[in-house]
Amino acid sequence: MSESGKNPLAESVQWVKGIGPQRAELLVRLGVRTVEDLLYLLPRDYRDLRQISSVADLTGDGEQVVEVTLDRAEVRYSRTGKEWVEAHFADRSGWLKVQWFHRPDIVDMLSGEQRYRLTGKCRFRDGRRMMSNPRIEPMGDSEEPTTPGIEPVYPLTEGLRPERLREAIAWCLERFSDEFEDVLPEKALKKHRFLSISESIRAIHAPNTIEEAHRGRQQLAYEEFLVLQVALALKRKSRQRRPCPNVPVSPQVDARIRRLLPFQLTPDQDRAVADIVGDLAGTAPMNRLLQGDVGSGKTAVAIYALLASVAAGYQVALMAPTEILARQHFRTLDGYLSESRVRRRLLTGSLPAGERGAILEKLHEGEVDLVVGTHALLSKDVTFSKLGLVVIDEQHKFGVRQRAAFDELEPQPHRLVMTATPIPRSLAMTWFGDLDLSIIRSRPPGRGETETYLVPADARDRAYGHLEKQLRMGQQAMVVSPRIESEEEETRDLASLESELAARFADIPLGVVHGKMADKDRDGILRRFRKGDLRLLLSTVIIEVGLDIPNANVIVIEHAERFGLSQLHQIRGRVGRGQQKGICLLIDASEDEETTARLRDFADTNDGFRIAELDAQRRGIGDPVGARQHGFLGCRVGDFLRDRAILERARGDARKLIDHDPSLSDPAWAILRRTVLQRYGKTLSLALVG
Ligand code: ADP
Ligand code: MG
Repeated sequence: MSESGKNPLAESVQWVKGIGPQRAELLVRLGVRTVEDLLYLLPRDYRDLRQISSVADLTGDGEQVVEVTLDRAEVRYSRTGKEWVEAHFADRSGWLKVQWFHRPDIVDMLSGEQRYRLTGKCRFRDGRRMMSNPRIEPMGDSEEPTTPGIEPVYPLTEGLRPERLREAIAWCLERFSDEFEDVLPEKALKKHRFLSISESIRAIHAPNTIEEAHRGRQQLAYEEFLVLQVALALKRKSRQRRPCPNVPVSPQVDARIRRLLPFQLTPDQDRAVADIVGDLAGTAPMNRLLQGDVGSGKTAVAIYALLASVAAGYQVALMAPTEILARQHFRTLDGYLSESRVRRRLLTGSLPAGERGAILEKLHEGEVDLVVGTHALLSKDVTFSKLGLVVIDEQHKFGVRQRAAFDELEPQPHRLVMTATPIPRSLAMTWFGDLDLSIIRSRPPGRGETETYLVPADARDRAYGHLEKQLRMGQQAMVVSPRIESEEEETRDLASLESELAARFADIPLGVVHGKMADKDRDGILRRFRKGDLRLLLSTVIIEVGLDIPNANVIVIEHAERFGLSQLHQIRGRVGRGQQKGICLLIDASEDEETTARLRDFADTNDGFRIAELDAQRRGIGDPVGARQHGFLGCRVGDFLRDRAILERARGDARKLIDHDPSLSDPAWAILRRTVLQRYGKTLSLALVG
């Protein structure tokens, strides 16, 4: 394998002893393709095998290890022809019966009087101890164990025996663990008493103590985070050095903008505005994330920034992730600006070619000041005469390309990114690591107040009774049903819910939207709902985040137990946006107490950040950008939520490093520099000259 002269870590795992092409296929499911991937496959747990029990001490909880001598073994058959191996072992304290199913090969390895080490779970049958399918290792003559004291437990994949995986990893460890290149120079490793990558990898797979294994993992996490944070710091630095539009905000301009808004800004909005005004007047292009719960009033802050830039003579763009949201923003702006001279246009993908051409020309000539649109704004033929600010709404829905929107323009337009996803701080620092952060915590007075009630599934009728009352009073309402795994089931569930609603509210115009619908049809129905032509809306969860329907104040969420809390919060945010208090009815069809308790916690709070925390406490959910996926943003070891302290340290170190050496030109950092470029050069369009 290493004869080829290539980097052996990059070789396919199929060449690893005991793997081969078929098992290599299975490993792909664990994200393992190369030898390096295999060595980066983290144990999900460790078993401490240093503790040897005597047979008499076997308790029945958890895996235990015994060292025993074989008395007899035989292959047995059931009346139905099933075959298994049955053996009797003993140590000084007692007898142990063992059965192996589907392992006819075991008999051949068992021979009388030999000592074995068995690892498994003990059960009691008729008061006697027995194990099924324990792991078995012959012990030879010496008393010395043949395995290390602490054994890694790897993620399981069907068709691949755990022993096989352990052996393959041990084999690679022996041959290739020295091949890893350290990102940090030796001097730094020594100074901080860090482990090298090779040492860390060995500590993870073959630790002497559990602490050593943890230390290895933390070290790898740190280095991964450092590479990522250096990339982000470089990005930030290079942006900061570019010329930008000059947007001073005089007291007169400030007063004029505030007069256009139909309300007074809240203190949180004012703080965000002050951050932005500071950025706009600065010498580096703004790159700011505005984070705030649904209905917290981010749009008003964005409008302030847009109008300030227009007042300074620049064009501005507001980009929304969907056509319907773009329209909504445009309508809001249009309303505020009815008395102003700001020239404004809406640019979406569905515009007829002629109209589109006319708008493009005006943008190019500088005859439009403010354009609102979807990603249609990013199309090559859209050119501006003097673009000063871009506002991007609901960033998490956009991809990397959108995020780099207008990056190539000179001077570099200011950028404001808005998100309603209550991203935990550690993630915000990473996903948005090159951005500055403003947060709106409190809501505008009288807005977004929604009362949430938990309704057990058997009282479902009461929830609909309540909904009916609101409908009869002239309100609009929504019913949300979870998207089901199978498409058929989704349509069936939705269809039965639809006929139920149609029967119950025969005189109420009902609209249905679901995931399989064409965007155009869905937008059409949402538009009619907003206009009030439709009074009741049934949907699977595709109701736009940010969709503003002031007259809708009741929402029923079917099978609330199937949603993550953050998702429920987003859905709940669709109501309580008008003058009326919102009502959210969660139908809980769960069968366990824990889920109900979780939903009750949710019903008790309206604070998106608190909810994100509640979610994060549960594994797997509360992960708005997929950060728990293996390999997210190039990090295979570090967990953005669990390893927050390490992440913050890496970020601090990275910023210091880049402040000190902005292009990493010191030869000591050559490997770090190369790794950063390899891993993130393309995604972050990093250019390191020199
Ligand atoms: P977000 O974009 O954060 O979800 P919006 O900006 O759409 O929130 O604001 C939600 C609602 O609150 C809108 O109807 C908006 O008009 C209103 N609003 C925003 N700021 C204020 C304020 N300072 N006072 C009163 N109402 C406000
Ligand atoms: Mg919004």
